[in-house]
Amino acid sequence: MLISQRSKETIDACRFCWMCRHVCPIGNATGQERNTARARALTLSLVERGAAPLTDVIDNVYECALCGGCTNNCMTGWDPVKFTKEVRLEAIQNGEAPEYINKLLDNIEAAGNVYGITETAAEITNLISALPTQADTLLYLGTDVRCKNPAYAVDAAAVLQKAGVTFTVLKDEPDSGAALEFLAGEAEETRQTAEACAKVLGGYKKVIVLDPADAKIMKHEYREWDVAPDCEIVTFTKLLSGLIADGTLVPQKLPVKAAYQDAFALVRDLDEVEDPRVIMNACTNLTEMLLNRKEMIWGGNTLMTEYMPDVIRLVAKNRWANAAHIGAKLLVVASPSEYVALASVKPEDMELMSVPELVLASL
Ligand code: SF4
Ligand code: SF4
Repeated sequence: MLISQRSKETIDACRFCWMCRHVCPIGNATGQERNTARARALTLSLVERGAAPLTDVIDNVYECALCGGCTNNCMTGWDPVKFTKEVRLEAIQNGEAPEYINKLLDNIEAAGNVYGITETAAEITNLISALPTQADTLLYLGTDVRCKNPAYAVDAAAVLQKAGVTFTVLKDEPDSGAALEFLAGEAEETRQTAEACAKVLGGYKKVIVLDPADAKIMKHEYREWDVAPDCEIVTFTKLLSGLIADGTLVPQKLPVKAAYQDAFALVRDLDEVEDPRVIMNACTNLTEMLLNRKEMIWGGNTLMTEYMPDVIRLVAKNRWANAAHIGAKLLVVASPSEYVALASVKPEDMELMSVPELVLASL
C-alpha cells in the first residue's frame, strides 16, 4: 500500500494488545473483534504483505467512526485513525472503495452534500430570511445541521439573539469538507473543498461553528493544508460558555438529573473539555457519564447511518444505556449529527436535548 511509513509502522505494531477495545463504540455495538483497532491493523498488515487484497477488508476500514477513542487510549502512542484515513484514500484512488461509499461521494459531487439533498429545509430558509444579510459574524451551520437537523440551527440562532449577538447565516453555505475528509481522507478534492470554504469564511471577522466536526477540520486540517482563513473561528459551545461566564446569559437551573454526551471532536481534537460543562452546570444538574471527557464513547452520527444504520442504532442504544446507568433523565448533546442518531432510539422514559435547546429552556 502507498500509505505513510508511520501508518505502516502502526499496522505492524498495533496488533499485540486490546487495551483500547473497551472504548470502541463500533466494537462494543457489534461485539465483533474485527471492529477493533487491533483487528483492523492485523487485516491491513495482511494486505501490506500481499496476503489479501484490499477489497477483502475495505468494508471493515469504513466501519470505523474515526472517533479517536483508540488513539486516545493507546499507551504506546499509535494512531489507528491515521492509517484508516490513509487506506480510505488509497482505496478511492485505486477504485477499490465499496459501492455504497462511491454513492456518497457521488452525492457530494452532484448535490454538494453527502446525503444528496437538493432542497433547503424550510426552517433554514425562514431563519435566513429573518437575519441580516450582512454582518461581521457568520453562524456556520454545516451540512449535517442543514440536511438532517435544522431545528439545531433555529435553536442556536435564538440563543445568540437572546445574547444580543448580531450575525448572519449563508443561504449558499459552502461545505466544510468534513464528510469528504471522513470518506476519502486528505484527497485533492477534500483540499479543494476546504480551500473554497475557507475563502468564504475569510470574508468575516468571526465565524461561530455549530458542528464540532466542522470546527475540527477548520481549526486543524485547514491549518495543516495552509488554507486557514484570516478570521476568528470559535465553536458554538465555547462562545456560549463565555456568554454565560461573563453574565450575558443567565440561565436558571432546570431541576433534572442530566448527563452530557461529549462530542469527540471537541474533547479529543479541539481540547474543549470544560466549556460544555460550564453550560451544563449553569443550566442543570450535571451527572457525568462513567466514561466522559476524552474517555467518552461516541453515540453515532448521520453519515454512518447512511451505510450502516443497524450498527449505528446499536451504538446509540449503548450510549442511552450508559446514561440510564447513572440515573440520568436527560441527555444533552453538542453534536447535531450525534443528536439525530440518539434521537432515533430515545427511550420513552428519558429526554434528549441539544445544547442550544437546553440553554433556551433554561433562560
Ligand atoms: S491502538 Fe494501541 S491500545 Fe489499541 S490495540 Fe493498538 S496498540 Fe493496543
Ligand atoms: S477510531 Fe473509534 S471507531 Fe475507530 S477503531 Fe478507534 S475507537 Fe473504534
